[in-house]
Amino acid sequence: MSECPVCGADVELTSDAVVGELLSCEDCGTELEILNLDPVEIGEAPSAEEDWGQ
Ligand SMILES: [Zn+2]
Repeated sequence: MSECPVCGADVELTSDAVVGELLSCEDCGTELEILNLDPVEIGEAPSAEEDWGQ
């Protein structure tokens, strides 16, 4: 169990979760990415609509 970095809601990870896996917060709908598993770290997934200035 981890926490959504955006709204702080509990985010459930599957037992076979892998780094880089995308999931969405059921509370705020933000697309999240698993950054690390030990310890679990979750961040906002880069949005496809976002312009990264490249
Ligand atoms: Zn959230």
